[in-house]
Amino acid sequence: MNDASSTLDATITGDLLIGGEAVAGRDNAFNAVDPKTAKPIDPPFKGGTTDDVAKACSLAADAFDAYRETTLEQRAAFLEAIATRILGLGDALIDRACTESGLPRPRIEGERGRTVGQLRLFASVIREGSWLGARIDRAQPERKPMPRADIRLRMIPLGPVAVFGASNFPLAFSVAGGDTASALAAGCPVVVKAHPAHPGTSELVGRAIQQAVKDCGLPAGVFALVGGSGNAIGGALVANPHIKAVGFTGSRRGGLALVAIAAVRPEPIPVYAEMSSINPLFLLPAALKARGATIGRDFIGSLTMGAGQFCTNPGLVLAVDGPDLEAFMTSASDTIQNAAALTMLTGGIQSAYKSGVEQLEGHKNVKTVARGQAEVGPVEARAGLFVTDLTSFLSDERLRDEVFGSSSLVVRCPDVGSLRVAAEALEGQLTATLQMDDGDHEVARSLLPVLERKAGRILVNGFPTGVEVCHAMVHGGPYPATSDPRSTSVGSLAIERFLRPVCYQDLAEALLPVSLQNTNALAIPRRIEGVIGKD
Ligand code: NAP
Repeated sequence: MNDASSTLDATITGDLLIGGEAVAGRDNAFNAVDPKTAKPIDPPFKGGTTDDVAKACSLAADAFDAYRETTLEQRAAFLEAIATRILGLGDALIDRACTESGLPRPRIEGERGRTVGQLRLFASVIREGSWLGARIDRAQPERKPMPRADIRLRMIPLGPVAVFGASNFPLAFSVAGGDTASALAAGCPVVVKAHPAHPGTSELVGRAIQQAVKDCGLPAGVFALVGGSGNAIGGALVANPHIKAVGFTGSRRGGLALVAIAAVRPEPIPVYAEMSSINPLFLLPAALKARGATIGRDFIGSLTMGAGQFCTNPGLVLAVDGPDLEAFMTSASDTIQNAAALTMLTGGIQSAYKSGVEQLEGHKNVKTVARGQAEVGPVEARAGLFVTDLTSFLSDERLRDEVFGSSSLVVRCPDVGSLRVAAEALEGQLTATLQMDDGDHEVARSLLPVLERKAGRILVNGFPTGVEVCHAMVHGGPYPATSDPRSTSVGSLAIERFLRPVCYQDLAEALLPVSLQNTNALAIPRRIEGVIGKD
């Protein structure tokens, strides 16, 4: 596929994408809204019906065996073709995503780079082959007292996967985002539920995937895009018997609703929901003494980036009270007061943010340290920094709730030991950050066992916003950070969410999958008699 042939028609029709075709929805129409103006954007999108969902899932199930039997090279080339087709959308995609999300152009361009990079990373993962988890324990007919059978294992994909696009990453965690890339890499057809905040962006990317399916000669059911306004479409998708797993990023309430639907199905299925996290920042004493003002300034930079609409936004700061904390407080307060109000993704997210901030402002044991500059646009929000004491923090669990946006709460702790007490009181988190210097090793050592239990990623002297897409990344954590702490939604380990092991006992060589035959024709890493190699 050369560059010219990869250029796509970027017309948005408002259709669903099912079975390789554009399908007109028959339910209530809705428009995307430009959050900068609060005005609707054309064209209208006619919502899908539960019949549309059923059709998409049934085609996905039909496509499953053919898709999962594609060679490593075919599947990797498919992911690369999606990346090429997305780039082929050019500025039309960038412009539409900026208009629907209110996010600035450099951010959206960066997100496109990350989206394409994720697809290419998973293509390399597919080719490398260790995700197949091939294990071979050869027969031992002479073993006493009992002979051993020939036992071999490989991972196979779960089946069609439902993916919910995230509002806060219209490209990198939406239609062709991390969940879709990892599910397709595993060999699972994907039915995406478009996020209603960016339906045009979703359609464009969906068309790019649909075209890549055609380019690669794959069955049309490998990918579908459904959407609508209201919970019925997402609910029907998770309940559909052909769907075997779910990937979701969004609110705790939404994620738990999907977990509940999945759990009461005749065949319950795993839901990988990434939901809510306040990403505590621990300011350890030596670091606070040496560079409190710098940390304060940089912390506000992280807090206000992208209007704070990151799942890794640092919404909680824990530090020992005293003079050293004041340099941090003054610097953070000065910096936040200069922070411009920024446009939020949707009116709903803005009003959830405002009500969270109002709760903090009205709380009898919370003081407002400083607010950012006042809102100008209709869907803007101003940053907020608040402070409380440890006793209040421990006694009111509402102070541990996520306020999605640029709001953070500082907790003044009476002594070093109480940092650990505060850590123990936390729910599960995506991240926990230590700002520390050499003199803080002892405190860090006492905190680390707690933080390992609480968080998916522990960082030192950085800020949690900005998640590298690589092999060792964990973007996950105990509830409510996610509904399943055993994996990650960012990075190549994410593929494991959509795989399960199958064991073959005494199958003839000719019947075994290629990955488990005696000759390692795929040249993949395999564990033979317990030892990993390429034999
Ligand atoms: P959301 O309301 O949870 O919606 C996410 C997706 O799930 C949408 O496609 C939504 O579509 C669907 N959905 C929600 N509830 C459902 C239900 N009961 N049944 C079926 N489908 C359902 O999240 P959002 O719209 O992105 O933002 C709302 C809030 O989520 C934010 O204010 C913030 O608190 C939180 N959020 C957190 C993160 C994070 O990473 N921690 C990221 C984004 C948002 P329909 O509404 O069309 O059904």
